Parts: sequence; C-alpha cells; structure tokens
Amino acid sequence: MTMTGSVTLVGGGPGDPELLTIAAARALAEADVVLYDRLAPHEVLAELAPQARLVDVGKQPGHHPVPQQEIERLLVDHALGGAAVVRLKGGDPFVFGRGAEEAEACRRAGVPVRVIPGVTSAIAVPGAAGIPVTHRSATRMFTVVSGHAPLSPGELEHLAALDTTIVILMGVTNLPSITAGLARFGMDPEMPVAIIERGFSARQRTTFGDLRTILTEAARAGVGSPAVVVIGEVVRLARDGEASAVATLADAAAAPGT
Ligand code: SAH
Repeated sequence: MTMTGSVTLVGGGPGDPELLTIAAARALAEADVVLYDRLAPHEVLAELAPQARLVDVGKQPGHHPVPQQEIERLLVDHALGGAAVVRLKGGDPFVFGRGAEEAEACRRAGVPVRVIPGVTSAIAVPGAAGIPVTHRSATRMFTVVSGHAPLSPGELEHLAALDTTIVILMGVTNLPSITAGLARFGMDPEMPVAIIERGFSARQRTTFGDLRTILTEAARAGVGSPAVVVIGEVVRLARDGEASAVATLADAAAAPGT
C-alpha cells in the first residue's frame, strides 16, 4: 500500500515572490503537487517547484472556479495517494483564506498537515503605500475586517467608537455601506482613507480621500479589487511614503536588465 503523503498550507505573501518565506520556498522545492490561488505568487512556481504538478484553483472575486469542497477533496486525495502537497495561498493562510477549514479537512481524513505562515496583505500592502498600521502618534491598535459581507450595525458602531486603524480586505464592493455606517455612528467625516490596489505589483496604485470623499475618489479612479482599504489617522503618514514608493518603482522600471 502507498504511504500517506502530507499537506502543507503555505502563506505565499502579498504577491511579490521575494516575500515568500524560506520555509515556503523549501516546501515548494519538495512538493509533488501545488494547488495555488489567484493572489498567490504563481508566476515563479515552475522555478520554485520544479518537480511539482501545478494546479490552478484560483478564485476570481464573486465566482469560485473550483468550489471549496472540491479543493479540500483534491488536497486529501493527492495526499492519500502519497504526494507531498502544497496548498499555496495568498498572504497568510489563516487570514480570511479558509486555511483553517482546509487544515480541518486534512485532519478529518487522517492526512498530516502543517501550516507555514505568510506575510499578510493586511499589514504589508498598506506598508507598501507608506502607511504604517500603527504609529505612536496616531493609534496603538489596528483591526482587520473582512468586507466580503456587509458589516452589522453593531460592528460599525464599535469600529467607529474604537480609536483604531481599520484595515478592510475584500472591501471594494461594500465600501459604500461601510463608510456610510461609520459616519452614521459618529466617525469624523474627515477621517483619512486610502485604497491600495494590486499591492507589490508594477500596477500598485493608492487612492486617497476621507470618509466623506473616498467613494467619489474611488469612482473617479475606477478602483477595483484586489485592494486593501485603510481608514484611520495613520493614512496621513502616507503621503511621503507613497511618493517615495512610486519613485522606487519608477527607478526599478528604469533600471536596465531588471
Ligand atoms: N490571506 C490573505 C487574504 C485573503 S482575502 C492575506 O493574508 O493577505 C483576499 C483579499 O486580500 C483581497 O480581496 C484584497 O483585499 C487583499 N489582498 C491580497 N493581496 C493583495 C494585494 N497584493 N494587493 C491588494 N490587496 C490584496
């Protein structure tokens, strides 16, 4: 009989392969099968996982080409067949990535599973736009929110009252109801807001506004996902950082041979 293989859930970071961990690179190098997502750094997989069969289970926003149950079945089946399976996910596997569900499915099937953490877009993408999620002069906390489903009035009320940086993932579609809700519960209409699209790509772009203006600015810019929304005083710290980030990208683009 075949020996049972294993599943490794790997956090792929926010898109730039340089932000994979050494453990992630090692797991990929040893993988027989890699199931990867749209937001995971997949362009370099052929190089990093030279022996592996590469399976795209990528999810476009709003539709799921490979249903979650099917992904879990594939993970388990490949591992029971003896393969070293890597499940490469964007960011960190345990931040809105259904990593916990996939780990649970493996355990239920008796498949050994381990998790390699990744650099989460919730912190790294604001950072790439020059926005620190905390700063001693601004706030000592940050709250990471899924905007996939609308927030409840209770959640909006608490968020508006807490002096916290709010980081929203998957928040582009529901941004109108989120900004309206925060304003309704008393957040300063001039609270700065930034939307960072496609972080760590050559097409990274930041749109700035405040609670009152951000929807107009987003519509004008034609903002789409993937994007991270940041609401809070820390956004004021970005302007310089963004300018220098743009300059760095421009330098990189201009540099010969890179
Ligand atoms: N586990 C992931 C998040 C999965 S939810 C993590 O830890 O980063 C997917 C959401 O993450 C996207 O809708 C978007 O809001 C955000 N995201 C991930 N990568 C991004 C990137 N490179 N640029 C902008 N947003 C990103």
